[in-house]
Amino acid sequence: MIPGGVNSPSRSYKAVGGGAPRFFVRGEGAYLYDVDGRRYIDYLAAFGPLILGHAHPALVRAIRQAAEEGTLFGTPTPYEVEFAERLRAAIPELERVRLTNSGTEAVMTAVRLARAYTGRSKIIKFAGAYHGHFDLVLVAAGSGPATLGVPDAAGVPAAVARDVVTVPYNDSEALALAVERFGSELAAIVVEPIVGNFGIVPPEPAFLEAIHRLARECGALVVYDEVITAFRFRYGSVMPMLGTRADLIALGKIIGGGLPIGAYGGRAEIMALVAPEGPVYQAGTMAGNPASVRAGLALLEALQAPGLYDGLEAKARALADGLLALSDRYGIPLQINRVGGAFSTHFTDRPVRTYADAEAADGALYAAFFRGMLRRGVLLPPSKFEAWFVMVPHSDADVAETLAAAEATFREMAAA
Ligand code: PMP
Repeated sequence: MIPGGVNSPSRSYKAVGGGAPRFFVRGEGAYLYDVDGRRYIDYLAAFGPLILGHAHPALVRAIRQAAEEGTLFGTPTPYEVEFAERLRAAIPELERVRLTNSGTEAVMTAVRLARAYTGRSKIIKFAGAYHGHFDLVLVAAGSGPATLGVPDAAGVPAAVARDVVTVPYNDSEALALAVERFGSELAAIVVEPIVGNFGIVPPEPAFLEAIHRLARECGALVVYDEVITAFRFRYGSVMPMLGTRADLIALGKIIGGGLPIGAYGGRAEIMALVAPEGPVYQAGTMAGNPASVRAGLALLEALQAPGLYDGLEAKARALADGLLALSDRYGIPLQINRVGGAFSTHFTDRPVRTYADAEAADGALYAAFFRGMLRRGVLLPPSKFEAWFVMVPHSDADVAETLAAAEATFREMAAA
């Protein structure tokens, strides 16, 4: 009935040994319950949007109120104005901001805007980076670094792919080469400032510096895809952590409090091009709907609780340290890249700083780990490329239970 049994491919268990994925009916705090009533500690966090856990009382209240007072008006509302102001208070670089329904739409429009502003059509993206499912970003690297792209998904026209230059992440030299060749045609460099889509991979300082310098030199804009990173590691953007400033920023996931949302914004003179003020079209029947926005407002309020991000980081550190100690004890090669409350588990001996490194990690070991943890009531992302996200309701007891499950799983893996 539903292709692959899933409404988004990453939910399938294809990458972790196949078979039917587990079906879930209810979430509460740090836990998900499957159709048989079994409880799982959830580190999938719906691929990133959840940070307060499932059915957080403040979000339930906001969503219930929206349900009672109307979920969709097709008119401006005071809620979206307040939400835009709160976003700008958290991320001052969002001089102006527009809401969409998804991260895909946010990045897609930011790129359209960059093309309109610069009058150019090419973009640089980084190998293995995911920016949603519009044609332009479903393009892989050509035969070498700094070559034009080829479609990575059927149905993406070759003509579209020719506008995409793909470069390895954390490779300043390849980036410089790409800008040397295509700089005069370049509208934007699109980047996750901290990668969340082939594991958590922080940028090396020289690499980020190169992105901004090269973009400035050739007249391209820098678009930060912060769909995962914003409000994940701190209240707001990661820009203050990195000491950089993007021209345009795309948001999504967390800011909707578990309801569909996306947003893009940035420099006022660029955002002035958005219709109806300017000639760049972007629209949405559901964009800025009261339910998503009121959930988002409640979420932003709750995220300002003192010590919240320190708490997430402490739990993630305990998990990461524990997993590394256990993997060492059982002779299993494991690399953990962690930033704040998010980390990734790559089964390899070598550090992971590019997509090629992540690809080289052992998928069969990850699949065995995923399945062992699932049997023991711990839900991880069903792909070696996805991150674990710690949520506010994860308790010390959950961390201990997770590490006990990991010990049993590693022991099993070592014996296999
Ligand atoms: N950008 C990044 C960095 C993402 O991780 C995702 C979703 N995984 C998207 C864009 C697309 O967002 P959405 O799924 O809401 O369209």
